[in-house]
Amino acid sequence: MENFDVVIIGSGLGGLECGVMLSKEGYKVCVLEKHHIAGGCLQSFKRKGISLDTGIHYVGSLSDGQVFNQYLKYFGVLDKLRIKKMDENAFDVIYFEDRQYNYSMGIENFENSLLEKFPNEKDGLNKYCKSLQDIYSSISVENLKNGLLSSGSLNTFSLSAYETIANTVKDRTLQNVLVGTLGLYAGDKHTTNFYNHAMIHYSNIDGAYRFVNSTQQWADILVEQIRSNGGEVLTRKEVTSIEVKDNIVESIMLKTGEKIFAKYVISSIHPANTFDLVEKNPLIKKAYLTRLHSLQNSCGMFTVYLIYKKENFPYINQNHYIYTTNDIWDNFKQTCNGKVASVLVVMQATENSDYNVVTLLFPVSLAQLGPWINTVSGNRGSSYEEFKEEKKNEAIAIAKQYLPKLSENIEFYYTASPLTYRDYTGTPDGSAYGIVKDYHSPFTTLMPVKTRLANLLLTGQNVNVHGALGVTLTAAHTCAELLGKEFLAKKIWSA
Ligand SMILES: Cc1cc2nc3c(=O)[nH]c(=O)nc-3n(C[C@H](O)[C@H](O)[C@H](O)COP(=O)(O)OP(=O)(O)OC[C@H]3O[C@@H](n4cnc5c(N)ncnc54)[C@H](O)[C@@H]3O)c2cc1C
Repeated sequence: MENFDVVIIGSGLGGLECGVMLSKEGYKVCVLEKHHIAGGCLQSFKRKGISLDTGIHYVGSLSDGQVFNQYLKYFGVLDKLRIKKMDENAFDVIYFEDRQYNYSMGIENFENSLLEKFPNEKDGLNKYCKSLQDIYSSISVENLKNGLLSSGSLNTFSLSAYETIANTVKDRTLQNVLVGTLGLYAGDKHTTNFYNHAMIHYSNIDGAYRFVNSTQQWADILVEQIRSNGGEVLTRKEVTSIEVKDNIVESIMLKTGEKIFAKYVISSIHPANTFDLVEKNPLIKKAYLTRLHSLQNSCGMFTVYLIYKKENFPYINQNHYIYTTNDIWDNFKQTCNGKVASVLVVMQATENSDYNVVTLLFPVSLAQLGPWINTVSGNRGSSYEEFKEEKKNEAIAIAKQYLPKLSENIEFYYTASPLTYRDYTGTPDGSAYGIVKDYHSPFTTLMPVKTRLANLLLTGQNVNVHGALGVTLTAAHTCAELLGKEFLAKKIWSA
């Protein structure tokens, strides 16, 4: 039995960042992770000695003076991370209707390079870029200086990304090209809000970077930081129950049988999973639990890792998004529900390795995985292996249209389905990005960090915007409940 100021459930990016902030500001913190290594979607695993990343392929706003950079400075991890800026002229390349469109870094470059291809869309493109900037300015470094973690209203959460773009630019091809990276937020015409689109899109335009060698380094550095601040990060510690006394969380029970006491508990796992762990309590009504379980989660992603000798497939400092029909939104959905029809091709940046890793990513619905839903990783049978082989071949067939060398000289490959993610990170149904933030109902799909139990707080990708930057901003909002918003914002700014 141990006593902590704060116990954090889950050691993904959200949990670890809360651990860093609170331990840095003097709280006695303990992060509990069910898996044998920390990191959640930051974790990398090895096959034949080669590190393969799982859930972060590139992140935005990481240049000096940009907001994510400022947060990492405050965490004390920036100068320890090995990062690589992506190609400034074309960090994302979109293949659509047999043509190539490059996203350039910096909003003016982005606008000008697309203007060359769409000269009649000067006003529309300008308006679109301005709207991205306006939304993004709500989380600016300038805000931090003024003691604010974010500013602005929730109104863009209730705007449809699809309709907003269609009402801003007239050219149908340009409307599609602007959502060329919609796989990053599992874009859906009927639900995706403009805020999510703008935040994720703008942050990459701002300054897109890869992690060199592995994303696990980031998790390891955050763990190290928590420990050097006097906190603890414990793996193989699955939380099985959150015990409540007089409407206050009193302790946490672990699968190992251990009990841990805490003044505050922060849960970074899915809110439905969190409240399933909470002991029966009059403040948590059955209708609330039913609602949490009925919220739609994003689809999961299928991942194909292709490993080549460096000379056979040289490193490309870009991401390639390949679409095969004339509607990107529909193409993504079609892929999710059937044969692979669109693929994202990313590469890992490596040093001192004789091998390069190319990763192909595409969505796969739970319905496609139906036969194996009740199986566990490593034990799903030969039909599952055949299914994965088929998906891998479909994805390679799409990708090699633009990257012909991709199908040659593969040393070995490895595949993972959303069920793999489900089994390793506990994300419901293997969902890649958690709760769908539906523009029709922003107030029911955005979770507040505070819960009805005064000392139980939420964090992680389900609460607000997912992805590295979104999770980081949410972690700050969660910790601000203990540290104060103005105090924390100014500390981050002055780091
Ligand atoms: C395939 C894929 C590609 C992606 N690519 C990018 C990208 O390129 N850029 C980007 O910014 N974002 C990307 N994302 C999104 C990003 O990875 C996530 O939004 C983010 O990492 C989520 O962090 P988290 O802390 O909320 O959750 P997670 O990383 O899921 O962490 C939750 C942790 O809780 C642990 N846990 C669960 N239950 C328990 C329990 N009962 N007790 C103890 N521990 C528990 C899990 O094991 C896990 O470690 C991608 C996601 C996926 C799936």
